[in-house]
Amino acid sequence: MSLEEKDKKYIWHPFTQMKDYCSEVPLIIEKGKGVYLYDIYGNKYIDGVSSLWLTVHGHQKKELNDAFRSQLKKIAHSTLLGLSHPAAIELAEKLINIAPKGLTKLFYSDNGATSVEIALKIAFQYWKQKADPEPKKKNFIAFKNAYHGDTVGAVSVGGIGLFHQCYRSLLFKTIFAEYPYCYRCKEKHNCKNINKSRCVNKLEILIKKNHNKIAGLIIEPLIQGAGGMIVAPPGFLDEVRRLCDKYNILLIADEVATGFGRTGTMFACERENVIPDIMCIAKGITGGYIPLAATLVKENIYKAFLGDYKEMKTFFHGHSYTGNPIGCAVALANLKIFKKEETLKRLIPKIEYFKNNLEKFIELEHVGDIRQCGMMVGLELVKNKRTKVPYLWDEKIGIKVTKEARKNGLIIRPLGNVIVLMPPLSILKNEIKAMLDIVHKAIKKVTEEI
Ligand SMILES: *Cc1c(COP(=O)(O)O)cnc(C)c1O
Repeated sequence: MSLEEKDKKYIWHPFTQMKDYCSEVPLIIEKGKGVYLYDIYGNKYIDGVSSLWLTVHGHQKKELNDAFRSQLKKIAHSTLLGLSHPAAIELAEKLINIAPKGLTKLFYSDNGATSVEIALKIAFQYWKQKADPEPKKKNFIAFKNAYHGDTVGAVSVGGIGLFHQCYRSLLFKTIFAEYPYCYRCKEKHNCKNINKSRCVNKLEILIKKNHNKIAGLIIEPLIQGAGGMIVAPPGFLDEVRRLCDKYNILLIADEVATGFGRTGTMFACERENVIPDIMCIAKGITGGYIPLAATLVKENIYKAFLGDYKEMKTFFHGHSYTGNPIGCAVALANLKIFKKEETLKRLIPKIEYFKNNLEKFIELEHVGDIRQCGMMVGLELVKNKRTKVPYLWDEKIGIKVTKEARKNGLIIRPLGNVIVLMPPLSILKNEIKAMLDIVHKAIKKVTEEI
């Protein structure tokens, strides 16, 4: 049996309609080098979405490979439940040093969804256990179109109907606020004064009404990723911080997608000098090599969990592979590369180049909106540019563009009608150009055919 046949026979792929998948020949990636992926036949593709938003310095990065190997010579795994290991300790120190000031304690886990579960459980438990308990504060505010992972707690604060609706009756109750979606905003007034904008006003009304029962507000800072690369206007995050302070709500920043340089700074919160009470990081933490995640909290939150053993204030949570040593060693090497190669500094002209070369997409008849936040880009395709009427779900416009791009040597994955581009930070200008040329051609061809 060929690999393709065995793949179809045995694997149930994530976020994939297997009926469609099995009606085609699957693409099997065997190798990666830099920003390129190679299939089992040696065909070469640009990795246009960083292997699902993970890869940072490219595939087969020497320093990361070396760190992996050298940790392996010591130990592959040892637990953090009641024990510790050097890589976890060194990494925790480094992460706390680069995180927004005030986040002083770090809880390890192994993927983005778990880092969010942990944030929610910590926030919930904090109000019960703090010196002056407020046990009524146990619900959460999240945003429409939000994505925080696929486990049941993370889905409870998820706002994407398509992914989350089916499970609604299984979930805890969450209050949903509107995230600014400027392209589809019906308000006429502009948001130059963000503190007077409709989104902020509506959010304040919602918080004011509910704050007595709200433990925390969870947000994807600056940009909603899986919701369709929806970029918030400047100042919005800062306003959210202000409202959380005003109404005594914990701010949880989900930096799982935005962390590690993706928006141009190490963390998105830095851009508005916002310090969250809790911060979730994962995806890029190991440079996209292996699963690792962390939830960072402020000292006052950590302290609410201290007490005599019999008080049962312990945070009863942990995963088998929490803070895996290989993950931590590779994550340390990842941070070293950021420093040594001045990754963030070198990103500035690339982001500018990306932006300039995206401008030509507006000439395409069906590109309604071009959204960019650093190295995170979304092109929203519409049936009619003037009326902004979207393509129907079953027209599969995003999927068709993606398939066309693949024929020309680019691997991307759409979010509905939004074409997502999120290449590794190590991509070079000429590679950005090559990627955009393929996307431009693919959008033109597919939208003209339909
Ligand atoms: C991907 C993502 C998650 C979930 O991370 P996993 O590692 O896939 O569980 C959570 N939050 C955001 C913002 C994400 O983009």
